[in-house]
Amino acid sequence: MKKRIIVITAVALLIVVALFVLAERANAPTRDAIDETEQASSERAEQPEQQPEELGFDVNKHSIDEPGSPWWIVNRERPLPDGYVPPDLTVPSVRLRLDSSAEQMQFSQQATPAVEAMFAAAQDDGIELVFGSGYRSESLQRQFYESYVERDGQEAADRYSARPGTSEHQTGLAVDVTSPSLTCHLEICFEDTPQGEWVAENAHEYGFIIRYLDDKEHITGFQYEPWHLRYVGEELATELYESNQTMEEFFDVVAYYPPVLAVARLGGCACCC
Ligand SMILES: [Zn+2]
Repeated sequence: MKKRIIVITAVALLIVVALFVLAERANAPTRDAIDETEQASSERAEQPEQQPEELGFDVNKHSIDEPGSPWWIVNRERPLPDGYVPPDLTVPSVRLRLDSSAEQMQFSQQATPAVEAMFAAAQDDGIELVFGSGYRSESLQRQFYESYVERDGQEAADRYSARPGTSEHQTGLAVDVTSPSLTCHLEICFEDTPQGEWVAENAHEYGFIIRYLDDKEHITGFQYEPWHLRYVGEELATELYESNQTMEEFFDVVAYYPPVLAVARLGGCACCC
């Protein structure tokens, strides 16, 4: 009897142990499962770091502060360094308004292929553009500005002319375009000339924007100038053209100007800005 109890107890213990082992096996991951897990984690390790979401436009590609940058923003609040002269001035091979020795017929080399391509494209469309005024030194801008102050008074001159050291022309990246007949030269009605219509529609494809847009006087600080083109490169020019924004809006550096500046629309720009 005692022997039978020992045997039953032993069998019962064996059954309990066997059940325990089976239960453990059921919970344990299979080798395949382990392999898959290991493979997945090694694949994760091999993958490059997750890229930030595609932005479509790299706003940090160029500086807006650095002199000479194609995105350099110059305005009344953001003057050029004292006596700045672009290091790469040249004379574009396009139809010029003045003799090629004139200071204003110079342009920054970095924007020269673009201006030449734009003029050639306009010509292909039967439109003759003329390079009216490009680079302007600080001293030439001073002469212009002081003559306007003398003629119209400082308040009026400030509405249409940049003070010396704040003109975009001094960067060598801005050009006033005109026509062979000088129709509406530096006047708002330039927008209705074939040249004005052509640049409004096509300049961005060559990297140029109309810098002082209609109804944005309070943002740019200048009246609408359909003749004043600024080189910023094709990518940004297209972005600004499609969104109808100024550089100040796009890069969020807007300083609002009093709406009285809009009054300058009535008088046109005597030379420009
Ligand atoms: Zn201009």
